[in-house]
Order: sequence, then structure tokens, then C-alpha cells
Amino acid sequence: LDLVEEDDTPVRWFRTNLIKTTTERILKELAHLTQVDTLEELDEPGKIYHDEYIPDLFGIHPKEKLTAMQIYIDGRVIIQSRPSCFPAHMLNPIPGEGMIIDATAAPGNKTTHLASYMRNHPDSIVAFERDPKRALILRKMVNKAGGLKSIQVVHEDFTKIDPKDFPDTVGIIVDPSCSGSGIFGRAFEEDDKDKQESHDPERLRKLASFQCKIVKHALMFPKVKKVIYSTCSIHAEENEQVVVDLLADEDISSAGWRVASRENVIPTWHRRGWPQEFTSLGPEEGLRTAEGCVRAMPKIDGGIGFFAVCFEKVDIEN
Ligand code: SAM
Repeated sequence: LDLVEEDDTPVRWFRTNLIKTTTERILKELAHLTQVDTLEELDEPGKIYHDEYIPDLFGIHPKEKLTAMQIYIDGRVIIQSRPSCFPAHMLNPIPGEGMIIDATAAPGNKTTHLASYMRNHPDSIVAFERDPKRALILRKMVNKAGGLKSIQVVHEDFTKIDPKDFPDTVGIIVDPSCSGSGIFGRAFEEDDKDKQESHDPERLRKLASFQCKIVKHALMFPKVKKVIYSTCSIHAEENEQVVVDLLADEDISSAGWRVASRENVIPTWHRRGWPQEFTSLGPEEGLRTAEGCVRAMPKIDGGIGFFAVCFEKVDIEN
């Protein structure tokens, strides 16, 4: 079972699995590494960088043999690229305040990250996965992370789930299948490698239509206040353009959904959504919406290419 998210990386990212341990204990075990203040200083093994954006996330030199270390083998740390940690951090769920759904969960990086935020609160996360083989991989990852108490794995198509059956759900992460154009080196799945090669407009249209459909389904859950949509694609068709199409949907706008502003979405992260894609919203709202999105460029930003946005529900006065 290989759950390593990427290879050929400029930085090896890993996070403390708070279900099993604390960052203090992990740092004690890694006391032989010298702490550096910036990513640029990770130019050789022997150093460790504590990320400034995601709590409990660390970068080390890729030559450092993390996968041979006991902290990785027994699931006390989980390898996950920095941008891939954005969705759970943006959702920032609070234990006891309601249920969280991961709509498209395998192999389970974001699901287990959510469980870290939920401090393994019992039955707090439901993770859906449509593909049978990937549902098995998800179960293995949840088990390895020690998340069986908090995470319920459901092998089902999320779009077929009736929102009324989940009245206590307050937040959803939707990280659906995408072109994978932000992934380099070895991808999640071998199959993705061929798919990511080119910018194929027809394929991107199909993906975007599926992405819109699955996010719209998440936005229809009655008590949900926050939905995070993310992709490991760098194409606007799967990112900003999906957001524009969703905001133009009458069912969605009339329910009070909008894109959360930058101040609530990793505000110090430098790379944001592309404003030219949001001109249909008008200059002010277009810019606010673009600034609310986060983007990461593959390698240049020290990890995989990524896009994430937080939809929040505002109260509508009748
Ligand atoms: N969030 C995962 C992680 O961080 O480890 C990666 C998710 S991957 C990009 C997308 C997953 O969504 C695939 O495993 C795919 O099989 C699953 N999927 C696609 N459509 C789905 C649907 N309608 N319902 C549930 N899962 C779906």
C-alpha cells in the first residue's frame, strides 16, 4: 500500500497525525534535524521547516528517508503535499459542532486530515468513495491513521445521497476527480498520468460539468454552512470557471451561497484565483471572489499544483 502523494518533489511535506500524537512529540523524535525559518533554506538533508500556513505541517529535504522512519511507518505522521492540506484547514471544523462529509475521499489524505482537526471525535466524519478499489484503499488509510472511531467510510456515489438523510452535517469537502494537471512525478493513480498530458478542451468540459454537479449537490445539504471545493488541476476550466457556473445557478444563489473572502481563507498565502475569470461578477465582486480562491503552482510553490475555494452560506433576509 503506497499512500505517498507525490514523488520527485522539491520538498517532502508531512503533517502530524493528531489522532495518534502531538507535534511536540514528533519534533522531539526529529531533534537531530535543524529547524530553519524558510523553505528556501531546505537545500540539503538535516533540516526541517515548520510551515507558516498549515499548523502541524513540516517540510524536509526529499532525500531525507521519511518513509523508513518509525513515525511514518506507524502512522504518526502522514505525507501530504502542502496545498493538499488547504481544504481541511479552510474548513477548520470544530469537534462537537456537527458532522463533516468528505464527498470524494479516497485515498483519504483530506479525510484523515479532517480527523486530525476533529481530534478523533466519535462519528464526526463520513467519507464517501464511489470506486470499490479506492474505497478499500481509503479504509486502509483510515485504519492506519487510527481514524476508525471518527470516520465512517461509505462506498457510494455521493451524488446519489439524499441530503435530508444528513441533517446534522455542517461542512463538506468536495475534491472530485480532475485532470490532475497540477501533479508531477508519480501521480495518485498510474491512470492519471496519461490523462494529465494535454489540455484537451472536450475532456475538461466533461470534467467541469461533473465537478459542477457534485459541488452543487453538496451545496444543497440543509444545515451545511461551508463547502470547500478543490482540485489538483491548474486549468481555469476546472477551477474559476466551475465557481462562476455555480454562482450563476439560481438554486445556489437563492440559497445564500457566496465565495468566502480572503481574510477567512489562508489570507497570507500569496497565489490567489485569476481575476480575469470573474469579470461577469462585476469589478468589485469579481476581485473579491478571485481573492477568496487559493491557487498553487506545481513545484514553484513547493508542492503540487492546486486550487481551492470556500463557499459559505450567508443569511438571506426575506
Ligand atoms: N480527497 C482525496 C485525497 O486527498 O486523498 C483525493 C480524491 S480524488 C482527487 C477523487 C476521488 O473521488 C476518486 O477516488 C474518485 O473515485 C472519487 N469520486 C468521483 N466521483 C465520485 C462520486 N460521485 N461519489 C463519490 N466519490 C467519487
